[in-house]
Amino acid sequence: MAGFSGDGNSQQIGSMPNINVFGYPSVKCEECGSEVFIPGVIFKKILGFLVGGGSDEISIPVKVAVCSKCGNISPEDKKIIKQQEENFKKAEAAKSKSGLII
Ligand SMILES: [Zn+2]
Repeated sequence: MAGFSGDGNSQQIGSMPNINVFGYPSVKCEECGSEVFIPGVIFKKILGFLVGGGSDEISIPVKVAVCSKCGNISPEDKKIIKQQEENFKKAEAAKSKSGLII
């Protein structure tokens, strides 16, 4: 393990202070209560011309965490997705109010 310093127990989690995370509650799956999530990908289909890719629909991968037992999207990611969807709707509403047509 070259390059690692310390006693081997220290974890590198960005710039988080040195806390024992196991003393805190875990995020649980809303469907089955499992605490284990695995990486998953959602593909969002968007119009190619929005990103300079012509008129064809293209798929943009979005990383999410899904429940390892039932496959439900993690509550944290659901929150983020919902927020982003609302931001999108607000932006669309603002556009239509100002009379712009996309
Ligand atoms: Zn689950």
